[in-house]
Amino acid sequence: MIRRAITLLSLLGLLAICTQALGNPYDQAMRQVRTLSESPHVRLLPFGNSYSGRPIAAFVMSDFSVDSRGKTRVMICAGQHGDEYDAVRSILDYCLNLANEPHPAILSKCIFIVIPMVNPDGIAASKRTNAIGKDINRDWTAFTTGEARYVHRIVRMWRPQLLIDQHQWNEPSSTPGNSIEVAGCETDTRRLAMTDLAIDVERLGKLSVVRCHRYSSESLFHRHYSAIGYAAYLVETAQGESYAARNDIYESTITTLVEAVCMNKSLCNVLSPASASFDDSSVGAYTIRTPEDGSSATSTLYGAIMLVIGCIAMVWLMRPFARSGGESWSHRFTRCAVAPGVCVDPLSLKRLPQPITSRSWVNKRLRTRYVAASNSKTDHATEDHNDSPLHIPWS
Ligand SMILES: [Zn+2]
Repeated sequence: MIRRAITLLSLLGLLAICTQALGNPYDQAMRQVRTLSESPHVRLLPFGNSYSGRPIAAFVMSDFSVDSRGKTRVMICAGQHGDEYDAVRSILDYCLNLANEPHPAILSKCIFIVIPMVNPDGIAASKRTNAIGKDINRDWTAFTTGEARYVHRIVRMWRPQLLIDQHQWNEPSSTPGNSIEVAGCETDTRRLAMTDLAIDVERLGKLSVVRCHRYSSESLFHRHYSAIGYAAYLVETAQGESYAARNDIYESTITTLVEAVCMNKSLCNVLSPASASFDDSSVGAYTIRTPEDGSSATSTLYGAIMLVIGCIAMVWLMRPFARSGGESWSHRFTRCAVAPGVCVDPLSLKRLPQPITSRSWVNKRLRTRYVAASNSKTDHATEDHNDSPLHIPWS
């Protein structure tokens, strides 16, 4: 009996430790944002702040080796409701998949502006509203929440030609659960174009088009931006769907919409007249072109030069072995300044109390391999640094 109780307590303790290590959904998602930030396709935007001070992550994603002028700007938001984590997870997974491809075709044609968690406090607490009980997706006319105001600044900065807001039902819905909603528009021409594009998505057979009444409340994100001239859609997934099914719906919707607007530039003008006033220079710092790796003549020449230098260095380093027949390690590391005469065998350096003080490249390498690796205090300091909150350029 006692043994069982101890085992149960141990398991509970282990579970608690694992939960602590993983953190809440917000922390998990931020770790993915950090991973994404290391991709050459991703550039972080200045983060916002939630009511409780949590960073609202935002980034742009594109193939920056391709000139950004003329690319279609697509904004994707998720996590306005903190209890809709599948929508957040899906957009981050979508971006991570693109980040792992060298030159994804879709990124050569468009720039994604992604805000995966509009409501960080809600996501951290797995609740619909923000920290003070405000439903952010009912705040797009009054703009009482800092979260909505931050997103609005990003919209005005980038003036996207397509906006997609991802949600999910956690309870039964009166409308089709898997749906794309077309909001009201000021002209029939535009409304028809918006509906036709949504029908293209419906043809995939995964969701239904829901037509919003012309006079429906504009306090929802997609209705507000549709009313002021942007092509904004709401994508919902039904209660009880698996993550795989939801992810499939979100991704296929993004792909279909983006392909359509990228292929037909004149369609963008009809769908999103508000995007016409976009000023390239206001986002120049984020879209500046980078040279494509390995494709230019300059980089090929540089690679050839480095190869020749490497070969010469290799031959020069192998000279002692040629003379002595490779008799021991000591010949290669004779120049080490680790108490010469005491020990020059690199395999035993980690047991030596004397610090390595020489600045030769050989010793730098040895410090890394044999000394730093055994210094647990240094390792912890490095981990702490890596786990510090992301740098926020401005809020
Ligand atoms: Zn929602």
